[in-house]
Amino acid sequence: MKAVLFISDLHLSQEYPDSLARFEDFSSNLPKDIGQIFLLGDVFDFWIGDDGAETLGHHNIEKQLRHMSSSGIKLSFLPGNRDFLVGQDFAIRTGCRLLPDPSIIDIEGERIYLTHGDALCTDDIEHQRNRSVLLSSKWQKAFLDKPIEDRLDTALRLRQKSEDSKQAKPMSMMDINQSHLEDIMRKSQVRTVIHGHTHKPAVHEFDLDGMSAKRYVLGDWYTQNSVLAFRDGEFILE
Ligand code: MN
Repeated sequence: MKAVLFISDLHLSQEYPDSLARFEDFSSNLPKDIGQIFLLGDVFDFWIGDDGAETLGHHNIEKQLRHMSSSGIKLSFLPGNRDFLVGQDFAIRTGCRLLPDPSIIDIEGERIYLTHGDALCTDDIEHQRNRSVLLSSKWQKAFLDKPIEDRLDTALRLRQKSEDSKQAKPMSMMDINQSHLEDIMRKSQVRTVIHGHTHKPAVHEFDLDGMSAKRYVLGDWYTQNSVLAFRDGEFILE
């Protein structure tokens, strides 16, 4: 089996040229053994609709994704809380397969639960409330019907609001809720979860009903690449 990579929280934006350069370098220098890449959300710092990619200066990133998918790497895109408006046009342009959050995949016979991660942060009630509004088709339709400039204004305002409210919240409130996670893992019959969002890269091992369970947390790309690789039967977080 070819290697599988998992990345998230690149927060690609013209405002962070370092991350853009690192992603370009990553995509053009991939090891030859990569068969699949799962993008687990917040790849873009924000997204205002597939017709707004040019406005955000994301043409080049789409080209890099297209280059990877054309070279035979299977790309899957699961949206985050910043780029949840990525849609079919983006998928067609880049060759990414869109996955819903959460999704369960099979790797060598093991069920793996993939999620961006913010849905697991149930202690942050304000975020969960905002999340259900932004994910509603009513809000999304009204937003996408607006002119691109208005959408850009709204997106920047929402981003600022989210940054401000994060400052006021304790770290623990913005992390995942362990008992909620365990409930989900039981219901979904999984022992392995991979997510991003919290920007706290780690491998958490814990006991789940007498069996060993693992939660891999991907890091952000603000200062370095964070990649989880499945290769030769094991996961390695780099
Ligand atoms: Mn996020």
